[in-house]
Amino acid sequence: MLDQRGRDINYMRVSITDKCNLRCRYCMPEGVDILPMSDLLTFEEIRAVCRQASLLRINRIKITGGEPLARRGVAELVSMLRDLPGIDQITMTSNGVLLSKYLPDLKKAGLDGINISLDTLDRENYRRITGRDHLDEVLKGLDQALDSGIRVKINTVLMKGVNDREWPDLLALAKTKKLDVRMIELMPIGSGKTFEGISNEDLIRRLKDRFPDMALDQRIHGNGPAVYYQIPGWKGSIGLISPVHGKFCDKCNRIRMSATGELKPCLCYAPVANIRDLLRSQGEEAVAKVLKKIIYEKPEAHCFGRIEEITEDKQMIAIGG
Ligand code: SAM
Ligand code: SF4
Repeated sequence: MLDQRGRDINYMRVSITDKCNLRCRYCMPEGVDILPMSDLLTFEEIRAVCRQASLLRINRIKITGGEPLARRGVAELVSMLRDLPGIDQITMTSNGVLLSKYLPDLKKAGLDGINISLDTLDRENYRRITGRDHLDEVLKGLDQALDSGIRVKINTVLMKGVNDREWPDLLALAKTKKLDVRMIELMPIGSGKTFEGISNEDLIRRLKDRFPDMALDQRIHGNGPAVYYQIPGWKGSIGLISPVHGKFCDKCNRIRMSATGELKPCLCYAPVANIRDLLRSQGEEAVAKVLKKIIYEKPEAHCFGRIEEITEDKQMIAIGG
């Protein structure tokens, strides 16, 4: 449906867990508490909310977390959402560690695409950033996903002094593999505030120096705000997502729901409603009214440029990115 500013809100990011098998330093530092299962929406409840969202013309769902593949039965959820008549596209964002294991089930369930978060191709740096030694599993899952024919995107967050020199290697994945590699600017949320991101304005200058033949890729690649480029001879494309230095709020098409049912119409503000208890006490129709209101009242823009105005104080792991 349209919000009060005429933006078409057709996409919902649904977090299904706050658990993760990695500890990316900018997202889930060691020692963060995990919620009890009873606090999380069940798959039936997630489906109920998505059904109501679909009646408001939200037709694309991204399953996220925490690590969505760390929640048992996630493929079952994909097929439950697949059965909703108004939902046209179900994708997932994952760290890829368990992808090999669950790929066949996810394919069978009808997953349309997978975004794999990968900030480095260096094993030692992977361990430093994520706190775990799982790079080989991720790369194996990535290749298997490509072989399976599912659409694959790589999401990378560059941080000064951590992995900012690795963008050429990461982008080069798109040279030989049919996938999009997207550089996402670090946002000042949770532990993200303690790192310094790289501006995509700088990156694009360096890219143009290195690849003078690079051209804008006008094709639609997905749901979001990425600006894509193509380099002649490369199999995949390069995407830049610039929430901080290239504000795209006027085209924002999304809302978010956390694993506990908190609704967030904008990433930088605290949730505006929790529908879990409402759903449990009053049923789906009550949820529909809240969804409608929060979509209509979606804030005009984020405030990442004025950190003191950010009211979201949770870690990204509890939000879903
Ligand atoms: N575990 C899954 C994954 O890593 O893709 C899904 C959840 S994770 C929170 C979703 C995305 O958020 C990841 O691509 C991660 O790099 C990104 N992310 C986390 N904190 C961020 C921040 N402060 N700024 C930008 N992106 C962030
Ligand atoms: Fe886990 Fe994804 Fe956060 Fe890394 S970015 S800690 S993989 S939820």
